[in-house]
Parts: sequence; C-alpha cells; structure tokens
Amino acid sequence: MKIDGDVGITFDDVLLKPRRSRVSSRKEVSTSTFFTRNIRLNIPIVSSPMDTVTEHSMAITIARLGGIGVIHRFISIDKQVDEVNKVKRAENIVINDPYKIGKYATVKDVRKVFEDKGVSGLLVVDDGERLIGIVTSRDILFQPDDRPVTEIMTPREKLIVAHQGIDLEEAKKLLWEYRIEKLPIVDDEWHINGLITAADIIKKIQYPEAARDKKGRLLVAAAVGIKGDYMKRAERLYEAEVDALVIDIAHGHMDRALETIKELKNSFGDDVDVIGGNIATYEGAKDIIKYGSDAVRVGIGPGSTCTTRIVAGVGVPQLTAIIEAYRAAREYNIPVIADGGIRNPGDIVKALAAGASTVMIGRLFAGTDESPGPVILRNGKRYKMFRGMASFVARLGKELRMSNIDEGDIGEYSYSTEGVEAFIEYRGSVEDVVKRLVAGLRAGMSYLGAFDIEELRLNAEFIRITDASVKESYPHDILLW
Ligand code: 5GP
Repeated sequence: MKIDGDVGITFDDVLLKPRRSRVSSRKEVSTSTFFTRNIRLNIPIVSSPMDTVTEHSMAITIARLGGIGVIHRFISIDKQVDEVNKVKRAENIVINDPYKIGKYATVKDVRKVFEDKGVSGLLVVDDGERLIGIVTSRDILFQPDDRPVTEIMTPREKLIVAHQGIDLEEAKKLLWEYRIEKLPIVDDEWHINGLITAADIIKKIQYPEAARDKKGRLLVAAAVGIKGDYMKRAERLYEAEVDALVIDIAHGHMDRALETIKELKNSFGDDVDVIGGNIATYEGAKDIIKYGSDAVRVGIGPGSTCTTRIVAGVGVPQLTAIIEAYRAAREYNIPVIADGGIRNPGDIVKALAAGASTVMIGRLFAGTDESPGPVILRNGKRYKMFRGMASFVARLGKELRMSNIDEGDIGEYSYSTEGVEAFIEYRGSVEDVVKRLVAGLRAGMSYLGAFDIEELRLNAEFIRITDASVKESYPHDILLW
C-alpha cells in the first residue's frame, strides 16, 4: 500500500490570480485549440458521447459554433453511421450527389419529391442522366398535377452552370450576378458533378467560426467500445469519414483498452484520429499516448451523473487529474480533453489553465433543443431526461437493444451501476449555453493577459482557497431577483 501525501484538488478549490494584461478587448483573444493531434477547433468545447446529449442535432450545432460533438455508441451501428452522415451532409458547400428527377415526370411527381426530401428545387435529367433543366417550388405554383415537368422547368439554354473546380468566391459572384439560388456543376456533356446552393453558402457566412474538415464539411467524432462488434463499428464509422474515433470506456488504463488503441491505429493509420481514455493519472496518460492515442481524455468520476467515486472508491479530483495528464501529454505534444464536472464558464478557464486543450461537457448541454429525447411536462415545468451511461436504466436499455437479457441480468445491473438518471430543466437552444461559456472563457483570458489558450496556461497562477472563499465567490448576502 502506498499513500500519496498530496491533496488532490478540483475546480472549487482554486481561483486564478489576475495579472497585468495587454488585452484591451475580449474580442482580441483567440479561442482556437486542438481537439486531437491533427484536429483543430475554433472553440475548446466538445459534447459528451451520452445518449441524452449527442446525436446529429447536437453535433451539428456544436460544430457550427466551432467545437465538436462525439456521437454516442449506445445505438446500432447503422444508426450511428447515419448520425455521422447527417452531420457530414449538413452544410456541404458542394452537394456531390444532388436530388434529380427524370424528364417524364409530372408536376405531381415533383411535388412528391419536394415533400419527401424536404427540398425546394430539383435537377431534371434526360435518359442519359444529362442535365436538361431545373424545377423549383415557384415553377409548380398553381400548376395542374398532370403537367409535364419539361413544360414548366427552366430549360438548359437558360441555365447558369459552372464547371468542376469553381471556388467559393466565383460561385458567390455568379449566384449574385444572375440572382439565382442554385448553381449546378456539369461537365462538357452536361453530366452532373454537383450542385452549389445559396442556402448552404449563407450558413457558411452565418457561422464563420464553424469547425470544418478539408472538404468544408462540419467536423464530427464518434464513440466505440472495446468489446463485441467494436471493430465493425469502427470500420463503418471510418468509411463514413468520421474525423475521430473515441474509445469510450470508464477505465481506459486497462490492457484491453490500450490494445484497442493500437488496433484502431494499425487499421486506419493517420486517416482518423483515435482517442483513448478515460484516465486520471500521469501513468495513464503516458500509456495511452505510447499506444498511439491522438488525445488524452481525462476524468474518473467528476461527471455530474457519475457515482464511480462513491461506488468504487476510485478517482482523482479533476483539476489534479488534468495537471497530471498534462505533465505526460506535453512531453509528446498531445492535447488533453478535460471530461466531466464543468458547471460554469470559470471551470473551463481553470481546466484550460491547468493544461487541458478542450473540455468535454454532458450536463450543461442536456435539456436543450439539440439533445436527444422529448420535453417532459412535470408539475407545470418542462424537463428532459439526462442519465449517466453507466446508470441502471442506460445499461439496461443498451443491453436490451442488443440482446435479450433475463431477470438475473437486471439484478446484476442494479448492483453494478456507476451513474444516475435525472431530470434536467429544459433550457432552449444549446447555442445560448455555448455562447455564455465562450464569453466567460474570453473574460478569464483577458484577466490573465492571454491572447490565446497557450498563453493562458503559461500565465496561469492558481491560488488555493478555503470554504469561506468559495462562499464569497458566489452571490451572497443579498436577496436575488
Ligand atoms: P458532466 O459534464 O455531465 O459533468 O460530465 C460528462 C461526463 O461524465 C461524460 O463525458 C462521461 O465521461 C461521464 N459519464 C457519463 N455517464 C457516466 C456514468 O454513468 N458513470 C460515470 N462514471 N461517468 C459517466
């Protein structure tokens, strides 16, 4: 038996000392950072792979704001791949395979495709799949069902088209010059190579900080396990061009978990980044990096729904865990993800100052429009479900979907849970939550005179505080409105 004489600390045990600052406006600071060895983000924010937090809707919004979402693994492989596809297709500047309709179609057929696919324009093609016109919702207004599409479409002679290789600025110029909303990309024989739409470009302008891959698509990560069909899952996610695979298990410093990092790295090379974890020690961080991990996910027990420390007596207070992991990670220049326990913007500033490059968030993003699950009305208030992935119901649900379990298993799960289920107040769009977190981060950086996250770490000086100081930090001795 050994006992570590040092006292572990977490967010509320410290504050950051302010220092003389050259930052005159909070807008001057850069929140750009690395999620993994190869993936850069514009804000240091990641949403957790939990089934009440991240599916495509959360991942799309977080990526548009500059971060990244990790699609959880507690669904079938097909569904998880579908979720990744939805993120990747959300904002294509060039749609590679646009919807088409044949030249024999009628207005009725066009209406049906508009409705089914949720689009307002279609490319019309001849028998050889060559472009002969475009039909939009305006063209079919007041037209009888049986009218042929060829009579109402804008015909090829009047179309403005572009050729492959056109860049964004040229496309914007053409869309504006001819006051059009759709720009098909064709070859010399009118075969379709893609479609550029004004709506997608507008989204790009609306979210200038979005985190994108080389092809301009939003970034997305996905979780896998270390048992059963995990390799098949990883392969399918890789084929769907997911940007990173997160090995999502409670104890990442386990031989089997380390082997899985190696296995995934050997299978996919540098095409996809692999993230091992969770760990909470210097040795844990070092080992997962040695086995090939492209980031270090830190956190044993700080999560809001987590009971590991109570059930198993195991864990490391989160700020100490981050400091320890960073000590190993910086030797290899690998980013640290601080996972769990973030309750307010100040915690993010402290996590980054202690060595993290990003923070991973569950609870703060649950209960929003973008988190999976319905809004539930209870005693006149609106809530959504939130649960730890090692909680009883989550474990039961997860297994039920994959295999039949008997009552004995139910008994076992009720003893071996490390998480809880909860209701969480509904709070509108996650966009507002993220904006509040980033505003707090910018404020913290300006107090420390840091123009970027690296400078924040270099300038950081923590001061230990007492319970009395914690009380002083929160609003006190007033009647809050
Ligand atoms: P939060 O932001 O809610 O404080 O923490 C989210 C993190 O909690 C997740 O990213 C994950 O690492 C962790 N977590 C989620 N569910 C469970 C659980 O049931 N048990 C444990 N030990 N950790 C969990």
